[in-house]
Amino acid sequence: MRSNVIPLTPAAPPPAATQSVEFDAELLGRLAKSGPRYTSYPTADRFTDSFAYRDYLQAVAAVRTRGAAKPLSLYLHIPFCDVVCYYCACNKIVTKNREKAATYLGYLKREVGMQGLLFSGINEVEQLHFGGGTPTYLSDEQMGELMDHLHRVFRFAPDSAGEYSIEVDPRTVSPERIHTLRRQGFNRISLGVQDFDPDVQKAVNRIQPEAETRAIIDASRAAGFRSVSVDLIYGLPLQTATTMAQTLDKVIAANPDRIAVYHYAHMPHLFKPQRRINEADLPSSDTKLAMLSLCIERLAGAGYVYIGMDHFAKPTDDLAVAQQQGRLHRNFQGYSTHADTDLVSCGVSAISAVGATYSQNVKTLDAYYDALDRNELPVSRGIRLSMDDALRRSLIQKLMCQFEVSIPALEQAFPIVFSKYFASELEQLREMEADGLVTISPEWISVSMKGRLLIRNVAMVFDRYLAARAAGPRHSQTI
Ligand code: SF4
Repeated sequence: MRSNVIPLTPAAPPPAATQSVEFDAELLGRLAKSGPRYTSYPTADRFTDSFAYRDYLQAVAAVRTRGAAKPLSLYLHIPFCDVVCYYCACNKIVTKNREKAATYLGYLKREVGMQGLLFSGINEVEQLHFGGGTPTYLSDEQMGELMDHLHRVFRFAPDSAGEYSIEVDPRTVSPERIHTLRRQGFNRISLGVQDFDPDVQKAVNRIQPEAETRAIIDASRAAGFRSVSVDLIYGLPLQTATTMAQTLDKVIAANPDRIAVYHYAHMPHLFKPQRRINEADLPSSDTKLAMLSLCIERLAGAGYVYIGMDHFAKPTDDLAVAQQQGRLHRNFQGYSTHADTDLVSCGVSAISAVGATYSQNVKTLDAYYDALDRNELPVSRGIRLSMDDALRRSLIQKLMCQFEVSIPALEQAFPIVFSKYFASELEQLREMEADGLVTISPEWISVSMKGRLLIRNVAMVFDRYLAARAAGPRHSQTI
């Protein structure tokens, strides 16, 4: 595998604080492999249908008896989209029939009400996230109605203390709507851009004029959103290092607080829309590595800090500050600054994390409506964590969020002697140490700058279920 050879536009050397990751093409080419993104541990493919509604009720009861209540994170899933993007791997329903959203909203409010009753008295919300699908598929009025309902059912921390975010497809909103969303209580916004190149946009069926997107970014700032985030994807059809450089220049000029650069994982056997992508147009592995290298170089040059996985943030953004202070957390929405919360998720296919459990809602609208008509929460599967799961979850969280693990701290929190409990994992880590990905001391496991882009590989060492899992591309490439 060649090293990074793409021509780079000269940039001012980044300040020391932004040198948070190192690109090593040889290592990435040799070691990148399929792996989970660890938004949960155990990962969702370990959930079973022996965990149902009653188990969820027990989990909430256990939270009540635990004494000190944690604040809540709420997630609301709006599954609808107007048109399909060919790269999409989300749980969504593509329809132009707006009636469907009205029916869904009625049931969603019912689920929110039931969850509110379960958590009454311990219902302080510090974090809210609307995802999809396309949350802004809901009209202004529908969104206002839902936000009012949420505020009636839960107690929200003040705007200055809470993190209230929404994913916005810039094609679906006007600058005026952005101001309305701010008034409705959102203070963080995440905008899907993916790529500004018109040919790439055409190849993935997502036509999104640059001027429109810029207007939405500018409106977000003018409306007073505390953090504006932009999502990009590398590895899409017709992308090259040149188109990526142009997109990066435009995004950096728009000056968002956070930038996520996701790797497109082409898995048409799992995700039907991807079958409409012309495989001959997909960039080669070398081109993808060149694009990733370019992203890291340009974003570091512009002063962004590498947070982990696909995320970059300005050093002053809450995510970067939380990482510095050791309180960064990772959940189904990615990285978050509110570590110690129970996650209550509403909507079709949404996943909650309450106490030592994960639980996922049914995936079809019919099953969702049926469960709520029976006055049951629509939980269809989940998992109760064993002590071993909780230990490994804690360890993997630390690796993904802080790039280091304190061995004495883990030994204090769990009844183990680390070197004995993880003897075989430590052996595997020694090989990674030889490759320069990690350093191991009696007190710390630390991921090196060049190990950070392969953080999933390091985390996978501690995933007890991976070895037992059937081989095959169930997960996306780590790079
Ligand atoms: S990528 Fe987003 S907007 Fe596009 S189809 Fe998927 S969920 Fe909908």
